[in-house]
Amino acid sequence: MEFTRRGVMLVLASPSGAGKSSISRALFEDDPNIALSVSVTTRARRTDEIDGKHYHFIDVPTFKKMREDGELLESAEVHGNFYGTPRSRVEERLSAGRDILFDIDFQGTLQLYEKCRSDMVTIFILPPSIKELRKRLERRAQDSAGTIEKRLKNARIEMEHYGEYDYVLVNEDLEDSTSRVRTILAAARLARPRFIQLDKFVKDLQDQIDSL
Ligand code: 5GP
Repeated sequence: MEFTRRGVMLVLASPSGAGKSSISRALFEDDPNIALSVSVTTRARRTDEIDGKHYHFIDVPTFKKMREDGELLESAEVHGNFYGTPRSRVEERLSAGRDILFDIDFQGTLQLYEKCRSDMVTIFILPPSIKELRKRLERRAQDSAGTIEKRLKNARIEMEHYGEYDYVLVNEDLEDSTSRVRTILAAARLARPRFIQLDKFVKDLQDQIDSL
């Protein structure tokens, strides 16, 4: 029996550098049904980032106007910059049965819980050690030394929130972590809230019993 399903909102959260971008990339490579929710941000573009693909880079007045006009499903200030999720694309994808991945922090996740809990499955990714986290941040080498310190301090705060997520992964090995995320997503696709015609299907079954 095939039911039409709603899309899954898959939230991957982690301190910067714990590997969620690499995991997301690996997921997209072999799964055409999931796409990234491209956030708006007021932070400066890094040299390897493409406007419209990684983020929509916008200025602070534009961000504030979008937020006031209700165009953002959630928003937060992280490391002194504003970030937010444009609303329209999310609803379009979910109704079309397509999944969407969110790379957002705990503040954004909590806001989404209030609005769309039954559409969501959330995963918190931890680095195997702080030594490794620092190494990954330095390897990225896009941020100044001061920024790396700020991101490490922020990692501490971010980690306090692991208990708010459905799943926690320690990202020791990219392939293994990606495979775990695929498993979680596969189960979420089969979860009851995804199947909007279930009520009708069960009612039909009951009617058949009644008419025996
Ligand atoms: P980065 O500047 O390294 O790309 O992201 C910094 C942090 O902002 C990350 O923890 C990322 O998950 C979070 N972030 C990115 N986009 C959004 C968003 O739209 N909403 C929220 N709440 N957080 C975001």
